Amino acid sequence: MIGLDSVTFVTASSTNLGDEIYGGSASRVALVTGGGKGIGRGIAERLVSAGHRVAATYRSGEVPPGVLGVRCDVTDPEQVEAAFREVEAELGPVDILVANAGITRDTLMMRMSDADWDAVIATNLTGAFRVARRAARPMIKKRFGRILFISSVVGLLGSAGQVNYAASKSGLVGLARSLARELGSRGVTANVVAPGFIETDMTAELGEELTTKYEAQIPLGRLGQVDDVASAIAFLASDGAGYITGALIPVDGGLGMGH
Ligand code: NDP
Repeated sequence: MIGLDSVTFVTASSTNLGDEIYGGSASRVALVTGGGKGIGRGIAERLVSAGHRVAATYRSGEVPPGVLGVRCDVTDPEQVEAAFREVEAELGPVDILVANAGITRDTLMMRMSDADWDAVIATNLTGAFRVARRAARPMIKKRFGRILFISSVVGLLGSAGQVNYAASKSGLVGLARSLARELGSRGVTANVVAPGFIETDMTAELGEELTTKYEAQIPLGRLGQVDDVASAIAFLASDGAGYITGALIPVDGGLGMGH
């Protein structure tokens, strides 16, 4: 992956984008899990253009230009610790954490193995808990932090064939809201973004017929783009979002309205 010396950071003062859209946020250190592709990659890119110094974990794929790549599997506590140490050594303590890494192992419950259940909970829920816990201490010390979890519209809607995934994603809401209560007095916010159907490798598996069926149920009549999610994250990470905590922000074209 790219070395730090090849990383060029865009500073808050050198970009008008950050100033215009996010109310002149200070340049912070951000860490995104699963930044090698899909939504995580798009979030890392957007945080760079908002003027932050950004690191992203990856297992496969490639982190975007200007981002410090750190190898890490969030199901392995030692790799998580090593990744944080690397980011702290290269960029400083993490101010903005985006727990994005996630997997699916879809099948109807009656056919779901313990392994399918465990793998999804271990990555999506326990992995998110693990990185949030590791990020929180320096945030508390600094009296500033933004902890952001990528959930899903199905966390609250439910989804046949996804009991493991939906349980992990609604679990993130309880995790974030409890954290919001634990850490609010220390200037640390915890929020959840719940994307609907976003065009990535994860949804490419759906096929054309199913995609058309879903589109018909989405008030905005289209699948979302990675950038739609990245915009919400960039806002919640900004100084301007300092009075928002414990919130669940849907980015789903209206699909989950009312839940
Ligand atoms: P992708 O499959 O494209 O990306 C998933 C990312 O998570 C990859 O970077 C992957 O890394 C990483 N990841 C998976 N397991 C681990 C692990 N154990 N340790 C570290 N990283 C891991 O999916 P999306 O970009 O679509 O999804 C990103 C997040 O958004 C997920 O949490 C997903 O549940 C959520 N989401 C996605 C929606 C969509 O429509 N696409 C809708 C709602 C929520 P690698 O490939 O290297 O293993």
